Amino acid sequence: MGSNHHRKLHVMFFPFMAYGHLIPTLDMAKLFSSRGAKSTILTTPLNSKILQKPIDTFKNLNPSLEIDIQIFDFPCVELGLPEGCENVDFFTSNNNDDRQYLTLKFFLSTRFFKDQLEKLLETTRPDCLIADMFFPWATEAAEKLNVPRLVFHGTGYFSLCSEYCIRVHNPQNRVASSCEPFVIPDLPGNIVITKEQIADRDEESEMGKFMIEVKESDVKSSGVIVNSFYELEPDYANFYKSVVVKRAWHIGPLSVYNRGFEEKAERGKKASIDEVECLKWLDSKKPDSVIYISFGSVACFKNEQLFEIAAGLETSGANFIWVVRKNTDDKEEWLPEGFEERVKGKGMIIRGWAPQVLILDHQATGGFVTHCGWNSLLEGVAAGLPMVTWPVGAEQFYNEKLVTQVLRTGVSVGAKKHVRTTGDFISREKVDKAVREVLVGEEADERRERAKKLAEMAKAAVEEGGSSFNELNNFIEEFTS
Ligand code: UDP
Repeated sequence: MGSNHHRKLHVMFFPFMAYGHLIPTLDMAKLFSSRGAKSTILTTPLNSKILQKPIDTFKNLNPSLEIDIQIFDFPCVELGLPEGCENVDFFTSNNNDDRQYLTLKFFLSTRFFKDQLEKLLETTRPDCLIADMFFPWATEAAEKLNVPRLVFHGTGYFSLCSEYCIRVHNPQNRVASSCEPFVIPDLPGNIVITKEQIADRDEESEMGKFMIEVKESDVKSSGVIVNSFYELEPDYANFYKSVVVKRAWHIGPLSVYNRGFEEKAERGKKASIDEVECLKWLDSKKPDSVIYISFGSVACFKNEQLFEIAAGLETSGANFIWVVRKNTDDKEEWLPEGFEERVKGKGMIIRGWAPQVLILDHQATGGFVTHCGWNSLLEGVAAGLPMVTWPVGAEQFYNEKLVTQVLRTGVSVGAKKHVRTTGDFISREKVDKAVREVLVGEEADERRERAKKLAEMAKAAVEEGGSSFNELNNFIEEFTS
């Protein structure tokens, strides 16, 4: 074997500044460095503060491994953003129009990184750059300096393929109404969806144009890194690799590389509760008896929706841990009177940020009500959990179809429409019914059975000789030489 084989691979990671992208990128950088590469994460000053603690923990556990942060300047005010607005999590407005304006502005502002990126690539010459899908300009920058650019979307094969088939065939333009179900053309599995569940963007709008750039940069890049594993979605992995892009490597589920308590507890934000107390509470519950409810790091429900969730949980009689993401200055008008008194011992509300993977992995947790953000979905899969699917926006309705129509490990709560941030309204009766359905009964047992098998496959995929392990090997070999 040539000497190249032993050269250390240097990989640069450039995540979009939102938790759903920072967290898997951090996991990915740790994974590459644990396989002998040098990892550098590029980010802004405030986001580097979020990543530093978990990186320090990782380095303490693995003193010989190389992983570092490189900070880029991001002058928010100069770019027309609010002061310190370096992460989607810092958008405080609950007004949807304001948020949409800010989101677009934020997306377009990241182009400011381009010069800094070019300079850094020129001086450090990494072997490749794994940059987020939302940085389409990174392909050009990398090309200029002859560095292969890989794309990281943060989502799985299924939604990437669904989105591709819909973009190519436009079946949504041939239905009589926005709620009429149609089969996604060309996509394996006869998957059914409706027009109002997909984010149908006006291609002439600024956001529409930006998304076209994003798609074009997918095809122009050297390939795609996917946080998934082959056994989860084999038909869609094959379809994506043969039809949609030149190359793709799946190396997930990334969350399972975090093994100890500390690593699982610290994947970004500091939890709003004491992790040990939370686990003790779970220890006191029977196996598979607790439902965990969370909608990720972006969705933010209106008070009337939170009220319905509370009422539905109460009538379901289930044990629960419910994560409520609210701005701290909001008044607590979203809880039925005396709710917390009545559910004492049965239910726990976490206001803010939950140590999600710790909770999902606990044996008492028996179901997951999820917005179907890809990270959460995969974390649920890796924990062997049946799910109640409650998509809100982004590509979450596609992810839901994977769970309900392909994997058959979940039931839909019945969200009909894609509504950014606030979601479609769901009644307490639907919440109650879906929670019961997923926790108890014959069909629930069958779903759980299937979910547990997937979790075993997920673990096997990342072990030595597993599908994700091998893909990562191939990737490292190819980019080292
Ligand atoms: N997360 C968490 N605690 C919370 C909320 C979210 O640890 O209270 C983590 C979750 O485990 C996942 C990520 O944040 O890794 C959210 O990503 P996802 O793709 O599920 O949804 P998004 O936030 O992008 O909508």
